[in-house]
This record gives sequence, structure tokens and C-alpha cells, in this order.
Amino acid sequence: MRGRHDAGTIPAVSLSSAPLRVLSVIPPMTQLNTPYPSTAYLTGFLRSRGVAAEQEDLALALILRLLSADGLRQVREIIAAAKERSGRVEMFIEQFDRYLATITPTIAFLQGRDPTLAHRIASRAFLPEGPRFETLDVYVDADDEEGGGDPLAWAFGALGVQDRARHFATLYLNDIADVLRDAVDPRFEFVRYAESLAMSQPTFEPLAEALAAPPNLVDATLRELALQAIEKHQPTLVLISVPFPGAVYAAFRIAQAIKAAHPNIVTALGGGYVNTELRELAEPRVFDYFDYVTLDAGERPLLALLEHLRGERSASRLVRSFVRRDGAVRYINLVEPDVPFEDVGTPTWDGLPLQKYLSLLDMLNPMHRLWSDGRWNKLTVAHGCYWKKCSFCDVGLDYIGRYETASAEVLADRIDAIVAETGQTGFHFVDEAAPPKSLKALAAELQRRGTAISWWGNIRFEKTFTPELCQQLADSGCIAISGGLEVASDRLLALMKKGVSVDQVARVTKGFADAGILVHAYLMYGFPTQTLQDTVDALEYVRQLFAAGCIQSGYFHRFACTVHSPVGKHPEQYGVTLKPLPQGPFAKNDIGFVDPTGVDHAPLGVALNKALYNYMHGLGLEDDVRRWFSGRVPKPRVHPERIARALSG
Ligand code: SF4
Repeated sequence: MRGRHDAGTIPAVSLSSAPLRVLSVIPPMTQLNTPYPSTAYLTGFLRSRGVAAEQEDLALALILRLLSADGLRQVREIIAAAKERSGRVEMFIEQFDRYLATITPTIAFLQGRDPTLAHRIASRAFLPEGPRFETLDVYVDADDEEGGGDPLAWAFGALGVQDRARHFATLYLNDIADVLRDAVDPRFEFVRYAESLAMSQPTFEPLAEALAAPPNLVDATLRELALQAIEKHQPTLVLISVPFPGAVYAAFRIAQAIKAAHPNIVTALGGGYVNTELRELAEPRVFDYFDYVTLDAGERPLLALLEHLRGERSASRLVRSFVRRDGAVRYINLVEPDVPFEDVGTPTWDGLPLQKYLSLLDMLNPMHRLWSDGRWNKLTVAHGCYWKKCSFCDVGLDYIGRYETASAEVLADRIDAIVAETGQTGFHFVDEAAPPKSLKALAAELQRRGTAISWWGNIRFEKTFTPELCQQLADSGCIAISGGLEVASDRLLALMKKGVSVDQVARVTKGFADAGILVHAYLMYGFPTQTLQDTVDALEYVRQLFAAGCIQSGYFHRFACTVHSPVGKHPEQYGVTLKPLPQGPFAKNDIGFVDPTGVDHAPLGVALNKALYNYMHGLGLEDDVRRWFSGRVPKPRVHPERIARALSG
């Protein structure tokens, strides 16, 4: 049950009087090209408050251990003891000596330590090739349409030896990941490890069963790494931040290992997954692993927890924290103001092995390349979203709804400090929607200081972004932006309260593109009341936007209704009814709904993404959009010159 508790009813935990040492941990899996920023933020904040704080990325450590010569030998032993083998495991064993000989140099290459190996990898005679390499045939087809030649030339350009090699090396690692999945752990994935155990999972049972199972190679390796980190840092408090469901199982495995070996170490769980899915947590077994579970921005709850652990604050005065008392979960929230965004300190990457991250080149979508390729310093321009109206978004939750800015001077100081610490000048601004006013002020400040960085991030396509401002942002180092066009339909954009029109998006994106900035559009399908005609029309708009050079990259997501969004809260206003939510004491986020239009969106999604894939490579831009759909669909109602007119108007 949630609610504020009477002061003094809960006894304080007593810790030794030794100074507190905090270890923040990134659990597997998160991205491998750059550290997930949560621990950098927390560690920077804690150090700014004089707390001894360290950080470890166990996601990277786990992958590097598994993808090593020793790791592969262990996998081979497991395969040797197994009764059955899948086709790809068989292939792996047949080529095992080649995998063993190539794994160490390939990892070094992906870490940027051995760039000359690119020539051998790009030759395709160096790495063993498993089923993942079959995807290259798709590119051959695409290239044939353009008249033959080098199959990957359209994707990488004539001089892209490094890029080709990284793409091949990434396919090679994906083949090994598939072998790990078949032979060791069916839940294994590089970014979404055991996700289904946690995602919108009303009961803790599946996770509890998985955690009670005998450890496999992945579990045992993670346990060893977790205990090594404890040995190294000797923390009194371990913070584990879970950004999404695919990091939850490993977070619990880490906590399990710590609690078994060091029961006196206090463990706390927080992060994006907790903030969205565990807001009504009532499952006592979670507290076999974690002593505290905190909600929303971590700084204030953490300060309160540290005071409590030092004996300076009673447990009944904790902030936004779940605890277990007398076998039941209790939510304690002494309301105190959050730490202002100006005062959260500068993130620090100190202690993380920045030279060991892997620059993977997985998807050929230009914007997704930025996500997985290269090491980007992560920084937030403002906390929350200044718009906070979109009806599919978690606008009521702190990470969107609490909007706070910092001055351009403070942001530029943070940037200078981060460049000085990491030696790297690439920044990913991780805002949900960075405010134009702040970006303009920051650009001016960076230019005034002569700070040379490159940066990219999310924005809203709003008209404040004039061509002049786009140019100024480009001059300050902006290389790419992404924003939501969602369903390209003025009716649906109004219904979802996006606050933009298709014509406006066309003009704003053209301004960015003309300034040399890559534009990626988040696209959506399956929004309430979206008809087949709406979908065809939306694709026609998207086609014209690509053809006019307004956008260069995009991705179609299927609309998902969350319990925190306006659609989830007021479905009647969007013409849908919600399906009953399974009751349970654990996670809650996505909720099913019934749309009376009855459109089957799944096959449409396949068509939309196929079209987009081709548009991103300049293919099929002149064709009727109906060609991408497998069944009969209506003719688009959008005038073929609609975007051109919007741009000239
Ligand atoms: S979808 Fe983006 S712009 Fe809309 S409210 Fe959410 S964060 Fe803000």
C-alpha cells in the first residue's frame, strides 16, 4: 500500500559507524558502446556531496568475459556435455578453432585498439561466418535494384572499410550470442536479457523461479564479477539502477550474490524500470534481494537513505522508498523537495573502463548507428519535458512531468568538465525533448567559449526551430536530431496532443537537414482510431518527407498503451476501452485495449518498416506506397505535392 506513514513507527537500520562507501552498478544488459548514464549521474552527484562513491559496469564486464577465449572454451565444454545441438551450435563447433583464434583480436578491433585489422575483417576471409551473415543477401538485392556493383557500397560508401569491418564483426558477435542462447541460456540477448520475466509482469513468480534455478554459465560469471567488484570497492551500500525490463533479472542475480556473500551490505534498487513498472510494488520477496526500492529521481531519496544509514534519520522519514516491515511492503514518502537540476552535479565516468567499450555496427539505420556506435558522453539539458502533453506518453510521471532547466553556463561547465575527464568530445543529450530555448542558449555559450564538441539528441519539431536556429545549432556541433512525427496525420496528431502538424514538421525538419544535421523521425502506428486509410496516408507523407530531403532516418513503433499515459487514464476520450489489467503485486505498465476500428495493425507494421528501410537507402521513393503492403489497401488521399507545397508556402 502506498501513502505517507506516521513518523517513528519503523525502526532504523543500524549500520556500523564506519564512513559509508557507495557502489553504483550497471546491470546487464545495457548498450555496449558507451556506459549507461545512471551510475555516472549518481556517482557525480554523490561525490559533489562529499560521499565516497564508485561505479562498475557489470554489463560490459560480463560480455567481455563471455566473449573471450576462455569464455568460448567454457561454452564449448557446455556444448560437449549437452545431448542435443542446434544447427548453429553445430556450425560453431565445426569452426571453433577459427572462433577461438579471432575472438580476442576482433574485440580489440571493436574497442578501437587495433584499427588496421579492418582490412582483414572486411575481406570476409578472416572471421568465421554463421547464419547472421545471411542477412547480407538482403543488401545484395537492394543493390541490384540500383544496378549491381559492390553489395554494401550503398550502405558504407566507397571508403568505408572500417564501417564494413565493424558491421561484419558485429554479425560475428551476434552469431556467438545466438550460440549462447541455444547452448547456455535461452534468455540471452545483448540488449534485452530475460526481458519477459519483468516486463509488465504482474507476479514475481517467474522471476522468483528463475532466480531459484541453478546458475548457468552466464549467472555464474555474473556472480563472480559482482563479488570481485565488492572485493575491490568494499562498499557499505550498493545501488543497482535498472533502466528497462531487460536488466531486471541480472540486477536481482547481482543482489542475490551480494546478499549471499555479504549480508550486511545494504542494497537499493531504482531506475527507469522501477519508476514506470513498480510504482505499486507489494511483493515482499523483492526485499530478499533489495533492502530499499526507490522511485523517481534518485538524488533526494538517496540523500535521505544515506542519512538514515548514518543513524541521522529514522526509517519513517525516508523519501519515495519501499521497504519491507513485518513481512509486508510499505511505501514511505516524507515529502521533501527534489534536488534542483542545477545542483545535481556533473556526471563522472571515473572508474569505468572507457577504452573497453565496443563500437558495434548493428543496424544500418543512420540514427540507430549513433546509438550503438562510438562512445558518447551522456548529458541532460533539462530535467523532464517542457511540453508534457502527448497522450501516449507518461506525462504524469516525474521523468516527464517535472520540468527543470539549468543555465547555459552550468551546462557548458558540465560539458567542459566531462571533456577534461574523458578526453572525448561527443555528447548525446538524453532529454526526452530538449527545449529550444535552452539549446539556443547553450549553443551561444559553447560558441562564446570556443568549445568544440559534437552532439545529438531528441527534440520536438516545433516552429521555434527556425532555419537560423538550426544553423546556429549546427555551428555549435549538432550533428543529428530526432523527434516524434508519430502518426503522420493531422487528425491523429491533434488527438494525441502532439502540438505539431505535418506541414510544420516538414518545414522544421527541412531547416535541420539544410543545416547539414541528420534528422530521424519517431513514427508510430496503431494509435487509437487509426484506420487503414490513415496508415496509407501516413506512409505517403513519410515518403514525401524522405523524397524532399526533410528526414533521412526513421523508425515505426507500434503504439503501446501504458497505465500512466492519458490514453491509459482516460481511454474513453480516445475512443477505446481498456482490457482488464491482470492483478498482482509486482510490475504494471502496458495495458491492452480494444479499438472499435478493428484494424489488424501487425501486418501493416511489417509493410511500414519495409518501406522505411528502402526510403532510408533512397530506394522506392517514386513508387506508389501501396506497393509495400501485402493485401489490398486504399489509394492515399494525400496530394502528391503536399510536402513540396508546404515547403514552398
Ligand atoms: S512524447 Fe516527447 S514531447 Fe510528448 S510529452 Fe512525452 S517527452 Fe514530451
